[in-house]
Amino acid sequence: MSQETTPPESLEFRAQVRQLLHILANSLYTEREIFLRELISNASDALHRIQFEMLTNRDVHDAEAELAIRLDFDAEARTLTVSDSGVGMTRDELVENLGTIAHSGAMAFLKGLEEGTRPDDIIGQFGVGFYSVFMVAEQVVVTSRSYQPDAGAWRWASDGGDSFTLTPAEKEDRGTTIAVQLKEDAAEFASAWRLERIVKKHSDYVSFPIYLEDRVINRQAALWRQSPQDVEAQEYAEFYRQLTLDLEEPLLHVHFVVDAPINIRALLYVPRRRERGVLSLRTEGVLRLYSKKILIQESHDLLPEYLQFVQGVVDSEDLPLNISRETVQSSWAVRQIQRTLVGRLIKRLNELAEESPADYAAFWREFGPYVKHGLTTDPLAQKDLLPLLRFPSSRTDGDLTSLADYVARMADDQAAIYYLQGPNQAAVAHSPHLDAFKNRDLEVLYLLDPLDGFMIQALQEYEGKRFQSVDDAGLELPEAAESPAAAEQELPPAEFERVVARFQQVLGERVSAVRASKLLVDSPCRLVSTTPSAQRDLQRVQRLMGQEVETPPLILELNPHHPLIQNLARRIADQPDHPLIDPGIEQTFDNLLLLEGLHPDPAQMVPRIQELLEAAMREKD
Ligand code: ADP
Ligand code: MG
Repeated sequence: MSQETTPPESLEFRAQVRQLLHILANSLYTEREIFLRELISNASDALHRIQFEMLTNRDVHDAEAELAIRLDFDAEARTLTVSDSGVGMTRDELVENLGTIAHSGAMAFLKGLEEGTRPDDIIGQFGVGFYSVFMVAEQVVVTSRSYQPDAGAWRWASDGGDSFTLTPAEKEDRGTTIAVQLKEDAAEFASAWRLERIVKKHSDYVSFPIYLEDRVINRQAALWRQSPQDVEAQEYAEFYRQLTLDLEEPLLHVHFVVDAPINIRALLYVPRRRERGVLSLRTEGVLRLYSKKILIQESHDLLPEYLQFVQGVVDSEDLPLNISRETVQSSWAVRQIQRTLVGRLIKRLNELAEESPADYAAFWREFGPYVKHGLTTDPLAQKDLLPLLRFPSSRTDGDLTSLADYVARMADDQAAIYYLQGPNQAAVAHSPHLDAFKNRDLEVLYLLDPLDGFMIQALQEYEGKRFQSVDDAGLELPEAAESPAAAEQELPPAEFERVVARFQQVLGERVSAVRASKLLVDSPCRLVSTTPSAQRDLQRVQRLMGQEVETPPLILELNPHHPLIQNLARRIADQPDHPLIDPGIEQTFDNLLLLEGLHPDPAQMVPRIQELLEAAMREKD
């Protein structure tokens, strides 16, 4: 059969594509121009791929063709054409790529719709790939010739309905031409002025020339290869936006060019947020790896786990064509590149902390978990990452402190770095464990993230100072300068023993012992532990993961100077059967569990609190 007589073959779109096309065709989204960004980005991808292919394969169709993108239009006929000399598509690739959903943005878009977001609110946020052309097109004809010498040319056509057609086509040169018959209300896009504006806005940094009426209209600059002095702040911001499609400015950038001992050109960004918008697409950011300006890969394997949020471009003649975690391990050059990138990024983050504490706090809020993860799992990274670590503390009034600053504030004879774990800022601020530390003017770090304890176990110490949990049963502290507990206020030992016995009787197995505290000042009691911190930290994590974990038995310490304990002692002596004693003890214990973040079900306390309140209202004396 000759080509002319081959009848077009009609194929159905997949259900998801039909759904997507239907939405796009009827969309009222006002920034329809992003369709051009998507088509150009696909053309650019196709050019990068042929460039990469030709590094190792000379047997490609039309090997001499200029690597470029071309825009043509006809205002009268209301047509627009986007052509490229990229890899092209075979017949099967046309069916696969333009009949199903390849684009991750399109997937996220559909997911967003399932969750009830309005389509027009999110079309522009990530772009939906090739299919976005149907926002402006009545009909689309894709003619493509693959680089594979025997593939021939094929024509794909669709009006955005339920199916598309395929026919063999005539096309001598390699690559893809996308001819768009514009809708009546999209005639504006068949205009040189308009097209140039759109390219400048969204595609200026595409690294292949984009021709319009025989002029190159994009700047194409490989910004990362320029000297940092020659790049303006706003160019960095614009490049970031085009690279990541992030609507927010990045938090910082790091740009450097080094030639020895290894050649690296890198432009890296830290985004402002870990997630963006309604859909959290930034699970994997964008890190483009180039060798001599040729895009060889887009992957984060070059950076360690704890820097996966970094976006940008790394260009080095010393990068192999295929990077993986293994190449990073085995190649000296790649390891060297990684070291340099990590070193520069961390240096820049430390500078940010100096220059702009507010921005650093924003960084810490978003990406602190990555740093902690690195500290916990990668012993070799500790030296780099420790300066980035931050905690709230009993002295910083909601602000954060570094370990270096904590240590600088330590008194000469302070034995350890003290820390207190708890569920949140309010709980730790009211913690009875702080009594002794306030009294002795000792600073305590607050560990509010359940995984913090794990990290502390991995660190063990900082600059020779060990970490010490404040609820350790064996905790020794120096004598307080001034003890508010005057001896005459203390309960007679016999009376105190009766209180201890009553607590033991009421709480039974729930506490391993009840004893007097040497450290409490303003609080009536606290829970301390004899279980090694490492084991308790593991239990914290298990609890976090929803596993049933038995709280290891804790020691209850009572403060013999506290009015609550003293009044209780009096009650026990005068009216041992008083109905408020046992609920009072129960509630005191529950309060402690709450502050420790160990209470399994706080709502259970309500009936008892009610009972205590009723009694309090009744009391006459
Ligand atoms: P994505 O670019 O995210 O993969 P798109 O919907 O934009 O998703 O494109 C789908 C696929 O179609 C691409 O992955 C690519 O394989 C193919 N494709 C689209 N345009 C071209 C083109 N100009 N040249 C070669 N392949 C293309
Ligand atoms: Mg695309």
